Amino acid sequence: KNVVKIIGAGLAGCEAALFLADHGVKTILYDTKPDHFSPAHKSPNLAELVCSNSLRSAEPTSAVGLLKQEMLMLGSKFMDCALKTKVPAGKALAVNRDAFSLCLTKAIQSHPNIEFKTEEWKKIPDKGIVILATGPLTTPALLDSLSSVTTSEGLHFYDAISPVIETDTIDSANSYWKDRWDDQSKGDYLNCPLTKEEYDLFYDELIKAEQVPLHDFEEPRFFEGCLPIEVMAARGYKTLLFGPMKPVGLWQPGADQKPYAVVQLRKENSEGSALNIVGFQTKLSYPEQKRVLSLIPALKNANFLRFGSIHRNTFVDAPRVLDCFIRLKGRAHLFLAGQISGIEGYVESAATGLLVGFNVLRLLQKKNLVIPPPTTAMGSLITHLTNLETKDFQPSNVNFGLFPKLVERHTKKERKQKYAERAMTDLKRWLELLK
Ligand code: FAD
Repeated sequence: KNVVKIIGAGLAGCEAALFLADHGVKTILYDTKPDHFSPAHKSPNLAELVCSNSLRSAEPTSAVGLLKQEMLMLGSKFMDCALKTKVPAGKALAVNRDAFSLCLTKAIQSHPNIEFKTEEWKKIPDKGIVILATGPLTTPALLDSLSSVTTSEGLHFYDAISPVIETDTIDSANSYWKDRWDDQSKGDYLNCPLTKEEYDLFYDELIKAEQVPLHDFEEPRFFEGCLPIEVMAARGYKTLLFGPMKPVGLWQPGADQKPYAVVQLRKENSEGSALNIVGFQTKLSYPEQKRVLSLIPALKNANFLRFGSIHRNTFVDAPRVLDCFIRLKGRAHLFLAGQISGIEGYVESAATGLLVGFNVLRLLQKKNLVIPPPTTAMGSLITHLTNLETKDFQPSNVNFGLFPKLVERHTKKERKQKYAERAMTDLKRWLELLK
């Protein structure tokens, strides 16, 4: 009776299945593999790492390193297999990708509480508890079914992410708050002006900067409304000046010179500790983003909390479509996990699988559903998914910009340490209270 259906045996689906199965819950895990592969999946094994073999930083004082520590505290099988199959990679946790997938595949296949079935789900099941974890390349038939339950505006097919900067690292002498054509109020936008000489240098470097190559299945079908900055720049010297760098109405009251171009940033979280660069979605490589954007005077020492990107990606408009337990609003038995829920990254995908597994177990035990404290890395992902202030929702990796700000001021190094200590203390306390 209480069999949980999990659709998609990727990183999130396998993590959810193993958590539930280890706690005595029978699950059926479905995947199209090995009969049918998405354009990015190649291996018949489950939990496949489709690109890099790196799970990013292992340092507990980085946001993703902290997320890993938290997952270990909840009994993550993803982390267990990652540690068993790790390869030397300095401060990162990288794995032997085949051994890693095999480790999770074997754990699934040998588990008495998990039945694996090769099957493509074309329709969202309407009975029983379901975890939908079909990832960024969900099959088209299932997407049609999902869009019919979320409305088509609730579902996106490409992400278009602008870089996010730590506010305190922006040069306040070279920037000012102001909304366009509004000299009265303080304004919601932080403006970073450029002179003609500064714009020329920025433009010249932008058009020759290195871009990340597209995958075969990612033919550039960018929406006119959210073109990458480098694509706009390639259309002509003045395109950006009439687009995201338009200066009109943004001159600083009292300043003797009008800027030639202005880059605007707006709040990424309600506290304003992180800001995104408006309209600066980009496919430049990460080092090039840092190099070229640092030519904007106010951003010369900027700390990038997240770099920009554009991928083919399927994800829901989480704040409007999901509740805080990552369920479809109005469908108390339909949970989403992994990339499709609106987070980004291997580790984050597995982490949402773990969180959803945790709550499905509680649902079956007739306990109230819970979310980890917002000061934890896992809680910060829920903050991102449920932030109704975000108008144009885009997926995010875990980063300290999603965490509540620390009360006291610290150096950058100390800040990371403090975030990590606070998260660990709060998660331990939370787990104790749930016992
Ligand atoms: P997946 O791991 O993709 O698992 C989804 C599973 O669902 C698949 O096995 C699929 O076969 C199955 N499925 C799909 N539709 C159906 C259906 N209708 N019925 C049954 N089964 C179905 N993140 C990083 O951190 N680092 C990277 O280097 C990285 N590179 C990426 C490269 C590409 C090309 C893409 C597309 C994404 C990349 N990501 C990367 C982002 C993301 O972290 C991964 O896609 C991650 O695997 C997502 O985990 P998931 O569990 O949500 O989905």
